[in-house]
Amino acid sequence: MPLEIQNPEKYLDRTVQDWHRTTFGPFDKAMDIDLLGFCNSCSDPLYLLEASENPSKPLTVCRKVAKGLKIPLFLVLHANGEVTGGRFDHKPSIPLQRLQLEEMITDLREQHNMKKHNRPHKRRKYLNIKAWTERAERRDGLA
Ligand SMILES: [Zn+2]
Repeated sequence: MPLEIQNPEKYLDRTVQDWHRTTFGPFDKAMDIDLLGFCNSCSDPLYLLEASENPSKPLTVCRKVAKGLKIPLFLVLHANGEVTGGRFDHKPSIPLQRLQLEEMITDLREQHNMKKHNRPHKRRKYLNIKAWTERAERRDGLA
């Protein structure tokens, strides 16, 4: 089943991107960050994900961002609304199936939690994203 955007009103909003493009023009380059995974407890950045349908997508800027944050970078490939796999941006880059990608991300969280917080990562396999989003919006006064 294809993944759906959980909150289209919020996540399809291009206000800031359009503002940047129209204000600064095409020569002041910028890009959206697709996804930055961070720790639930301390908010440390854990990994950077770039999403693309192109397995050969250049990752020059993302690589610099990830290097600056000292976190791994993954290119996550998708097609027809499905995450199909990706690659771990490492030399040489390592192609990954979707489950391998999910395991690597979970491992990163587990390693961080053990190293920094001295406790295992709480796996939330069956997390209801819609309920979580609604709870977070109520908490933040957005709903
Ligand atoms: Zn942490």
